[in-house]
This record gives sequence, C-alpha cells and structure tokens, in this order.
Amino acid sequence: MHHMTLAEIARGLADKKFSSEELTKVLLARIAQLDPQLNSFISLTEELALSQAKAADVRRANGESGALLGAPIAHKDLFCTQGIRTSCGSKMLDNFKAPYDATVVAKLAAAGAVTLGKTNMDEFAMGSANESSYYGAVKNPWNLEHVPGGSSGGSAAAVAARLLPAATATDTGGSIRQPAAFTNLTGLKPTYGRVSRWGMIAYASSLDQGGPLARTAEDCAILLQGMAGFDPNDSTSIDEPVPDYSASLNGSLQGLRIGVPKEYFSAGLDPRIAELIHNSIKELEKLGAVIKPISLPNMQHAIPAYYVIAPAEASSNLSRFDGVRFGYRCENPENLIDLYKRSRGEGFGAEVQRRIMVGAYALSAGYYDAYYLKAQKIRRLVKNDFMAAFNEVDIILGPTTPNPAWKLGAKSSDPVAEYLEDVYTITANLAGLPGLSMPAGFVDGLPVGVQLLAPYFQEGRLLNVAHQYQLNTDWHTRTPTGF
Ligand code: GLN
Repeated sequence: MHHMTLAEIARGLADKKFSSEELTKVLLARIAQLDPQLNSFISLTEELALSQAKAADVRRANGESGALLGAPIAHKDLFCTQGIRTSCGSKMLDNFKAPYDATVVAKLAAAGAVTLGKTNMDEFAMGSANESSYYGAVKNPWNLEHVPGGSSGGSAAAVAARLLPAATATDTGGSIRQPAAFTNLTGLKPTYGRVSRWGMIAYASSLDQGGPLARTAEDCAILLQGMAGFDPNDSTSIDEPVPDYSASLNGSLQGLRIGVPKEYFSAGLDPRIAELIHNSIKELEKLGAVIKPISLPNMQHAIPAYYVIAPAEASSNLSRFDGVRFGYRCENPENLIDLYKRSRGEGFGAEVQRRIMVGAYALSAGYYDAYYLKAQKIRRLVKNDFMAAFNEVDIILGPTTPNPAWKLGAKSSDPVAEYLEDVYTITANLAGLPGLSMPAGFVDGLPVGVQLLAPYFQEGRLLNVAHQYQLNTDWHTRTPTGF
C-alpha cells in the first residue's frame, strides 16, 4: 500500500479498494517502524490524521470525490497548524502551538487531505543539508550516512522512503528542488505569489514560496492544485486563475524549445552529473524538443546577491522572536536587554545567528548601499537574463545541484561551501520564476536531479515536460533499499 502515488491512492479510494482510514493506519505504523532511522518528522498527528481520514471516508460515501479527498500528506514544520506545535526546526519555537492554520494547511484540509504530521527541517529554513534542525539531522534514505538536502529534508526523506506519498515544502533558494534531487523526488517551486505565504513562518519574504514534493510530476500537479490560489491575507499573492494542472500533463513536446545555459556546465559541476543531464536532454529530444544553447551571464553573481538579500530579510523577520511575544524565554532575566539577549542567544542556533548578523550588517547605515542595494541591482540583472532567454526558449534545463548528496557533517563546519551548492537553484527565487526538479539518474547510488525553469505562471508547462519525461524513463520509480 505504501508504494502508491497520490494518483493511485485517489483511484483506489474512488474504486473502494481500501478506505482512507485503512491507508492512514498503514502509513502511521510504517512511520513508527522506519522513521527512527531517518528522523524525518518533528511531530506526528495520529489523532488528527485518523479523524480526518474517517471524515474523508464519510465524504466519499456521501458521493464526494476529489484527488486529495482522503490522501495522506505531511506539512513542513513552518506551516502553522492550529493547536499543533509549529517549531520551524528551532528551539525558539519548540513550545509554540500555532493559533491558526496557514492558508495552505486550511486549503488542503478542506480538500480532504489527511495530515500525518509535521516534518523536520533546517532551523528557520536556513540550510541545504537539514543538519541545522534543533531536532537533529535528517538522514537520506538512499544512504543513511548522507544528507537528504535542505531545508525541506524531512518532507523529502519521508516521501522518498515511502512513509507517505507527498508532502508540502518551501523553497527560498532551492529547498524544494535540492532535496528533491538528493532523494529522487519530483519537487516544484511555484511562481512567487502563486501559493499563499499566510501562516508560513517567514525566512526571506521576497523569496519564500510553498510547493509540493512528491514522487511524480502527476502527483505534484495534484498537490499544487490544492495549494495554489489567490489569498487576500497575503499581500504578495497574485490574483490569477489557477489552471487545471492535471489537464496540462499530456501536451506534446513536439517543437518545445529547451534552452541549455552554457554557464551551467562550468568546472564546478560533477562531470558524472553533467553526463546524466545530457542523457535527459537526449530523452527530451526524442520526444520532439529542440535544444538551443543560451547564456545567463549574471549567474555568477547570484550566490553573493542571494546571501545578502536572504539574511537581510531574515534579520528583519526574525526580530519578532524576542522572548516576549513568541516561543522561548530565558530563565531569570535580569532586565529587558538581558531578556532579549539571552532568549535570542539561547533560542537560535549558530547558522540562524550568523545570518541575522550578516543581514543586520548589510542593512545598517553606511553599508546599505554597498551591500543590500547592490545585491538588489544584481537581482534585477539576473531577472533580465531570464527574460531575454525566455524570448528564445520555452523552458530552461540544467542540473539541480552541482554535486550529489554529501556525507553528514562534510560541510557543516564550512557554511560558505554549503552556500555554493545552491548555485543552480537560487536564481529562480531571485527572479520569482517557477522551477521543478525531477529524477535523472544516479551517481554512486545517490540520486541526481535535472532542473526545469519556465516563465511566470507556467507551472503547467513544467509539469507537462516532467510528466512526458517520466512516461519514458523510470528513474522516478526507483526505491531506496530498506524502504
Ligand atoms: N540553502 C538556501 C539557504 O540556506 C536555501 C534555503 C531555502 O530554500 N529555504 O538559504
């Protein structure tokens, strides 16, 4: 039962082959048995799951249908869930029970999805390895000595290990696509503004975007359908109709123009990954796509720009965690300053503190023009590169990551080495574009992802290309040994 995709589950429930309650029990038992190896969950919500599953079964018995009605999922632990701990992977929020549901959580619950729990993540979504969580590192089910990617590593490890079919995640600089690549999943970061950020604990507000992590493009379409849409509570939510993503999957790729940026194949890319990316290009050519070499000349400036902008926004967003209003408060503060200092010093981990300091520095008088303003100008250049490229091509294709998943601990003492691993993913966030990672093969038994980028609001095009690719390849069906 645990091998089923969301699409298969929907068919099975509709055909009354099993009930949502039966499936939910099977998956909860599987999580109890296998998750101790992975540490992919921060909280389990068994009671909620069983009551949602029973309610979904009643709705189906009363004639309702819907691809998510009775489908088990989990939420990254930065989506607020009413009355349930919402920790953001931090000691700061270890005792925080959200007073309301995030829009994404509420929409998925209304569609009948069943919440099995809240998944582990890098503290405040800062990281590419899922090692900075207060609740401990997450392990990659493909090799337990390797990281699953971050910051949505818990959602990725759980779905890859077949503990559940799909999960929500967020992507500020790659945190959906990079863990998807590291664990052999399909993950989609939507256009900025497509999915509501209301009730999603903010890291860098102009970059953050929620999206689906699943095993197939078909399942990403189903989950995105339940997440996307205008939300008046989010001032950056965009009032555009949501297309039927599942209906877009079967378009022909004949004549599709795929741009391959020459900058992507530089010295930093593992040559074994380059070869797998070239194989995926050949596969898409067989389906009728036309390849065009393109250039994204400002890509080299994207990492330094991102690692100024994201910490700057984080330093502002995280100022609310002051020991007074939310979460952790230090013992016996001597005065107000001592309360602030020790609550923040004890409640935040090292990487979060580093980013708050970098961000506050970049925003301070005298440095603002040199760092923050300069980074914003680079951001515009990165966007302009994409706009020029999309005049020539329909999608852009390349590797999701320069290397496969590294060993636990290999980069944790060298933050810049970890930042460099985000080179292919952060440009989409700087420009606000949608991006998808899908399985493209293996290197030393570790999965490799190919990334597709599309113009604004062309999530359907990404899902179409990925689905056609997955109809003709079987990388996405591979299962990690032991799971
Ligand atoms: N690795 C990037 C960072 O640490 C991206 C994280 C994310 O997308 N949440 O900022």
